[in-house]
Amino acid sequence: MAQVVVVGAGQAGLSAGYFLPRFGIDDYVLLDHYPGPGGAWSQRWPSLTLRAANHVHDLPGWGLRDALGDQCDDIPAATGVARYFGEYERRFDLPVRRPAHVTAVTRTGDADRPFAVSGVTGGEEFILRPAAVINCTGTWDHPFRPTVRGSSSFRGRQLHAHEYRTAEPFAGLTVAVVGAGVSAVQLLVEIAAVTDTVWFSRREPEWDDGPFDPDKGRRAVALVEERVRAGLPPGSVVSVTGLPLTEPMRRAREAGILAWHPMFRAMTPDSVVLADGTSRRVDVVLWCTGFRYSMDHLAPLGLRSPGGGIVMTGRLATEVAGEPRLHLLGYGPSASTIGANRAGREAARAVAELVG
Ligand SMILES: Cc1cc2nc3c(=O)[nH]c(=O)nc-3n(C[C@H](O)[C@H](O)[C@H](O)COP(=O)(O)OP(=O)(O)OC[C@H]3O[C@@H](n4cnc5c(N)ncnc54)[C@H](O)[C@@H]3O)c2cc1C
Repeated sequence: MAQVVVVGAGQAGLSAGYFLPRFGIDDYVLLDHYPGPGGAWSQRWPSLTLRAANHVHDLPGWGLRDALGDQCDDIPAATGVARYFGEYERRFDLPVRRPAHVTAVTRTGDADRPFAVSGVTGGEEFILRPAAVINCTGTWDHPFRPTVRGSSSFRGRQLHAHEYRTAEPFAGLTVAVVGAGVSAVQLLVEIAAVTDTVWFSRREPEWDDGPFDPDKGRRAVALVEERVRAGLPPGSVVSVTGLPLTEPMRRAREAGILAWHPMFRAMTPDSVVLADGTSRRVDVVLWCTGFRYSMDHLAPLGLRSPGGGIVMTGRLATEVAGEPRLHLLGYGPSASTIGANRAGREAARAVAELVG
């Protein structure tokens, strides 16, 4: 009978978990289906170090470097962040239950306890009836792959960045990398060090070689926020900011590794059919085509708007319109480590005001 249930204990969930007691809610629980701490970071490929990540913002109240020391840049983000989050949970005594998989959130019809949160932990089913739900389930478990004609006939290997571990198994093969985000270019550079690569994406990537400009970031987030307030799917931040042209990217471009091709239009058993109709033999297709918010368990609530997204409201657009006791963090404008932090604070404050 926890008063507030937080689903997911990644950056957003831990931030909400830190702030809930500070706004007067002590009766809450965080449910997470991974076996250990770290959220999606714990699942990322080993070569993604903390230096290579864009920036992992400190959780509220205690920083990453406080936990890992100043020499942590070359640690894989997967192990470093998992250690940081684990120590953070202990330090602030956060009530995280794992592995606890939430299968459904449904309505009860009771105004004080409007939701039933069902799931499984340790082989046992559970149902909680909280006064509010803060959903922080991220995107990692929902890799997105576009449909391409003939893709099921392809006899080579296809994998999503979600499944990528290291480049070595691809040595000697030709790898097509699809996508125009940061992961696509990072993995292209990494794989090109061991074998031939070819790069495709739907839109030509726009490089941004200017210095990091917080204003640019804020403008991009504002555009995503505008979309979710209108009930449209959030869209990606990179489509607004462009790809940061870091020093390694600049070198890779000069070396001809980042030669871009428009998206292929079909696949055959051993090739991809290019936009101009010619074919190119490839052995592997690596889809770096992003993720969607993990929300299958929210389906019974029927939250989708005709625009294809969820209409969000509240000060930081964390609140589902018409559902003040349901907040979605890590969705839309809060889908970054800094955004997740702020959203955690805001959702905890708003929920405590209603049910505290
Ligand atoms: C490759 C990659 C690199 C990135 N790099 C950066 C970066 O450098 N800087 C940055 O700010 N952002 C980055 N991001 C975005 C980043 O993922 C977010 O900023 C942030 O880490 C997401 O935190 P979160 O808490 O919303 O989600 P997550 O970290 O994904 O946490 C979600 C949690 O919910 C749990 N969960 C999911 N479904 C259920 C369920 N049904 N039941 C129970 N538990 C469930 C999962 O176990 C998980 O622990 C990156 C994303 C990717 C894919």
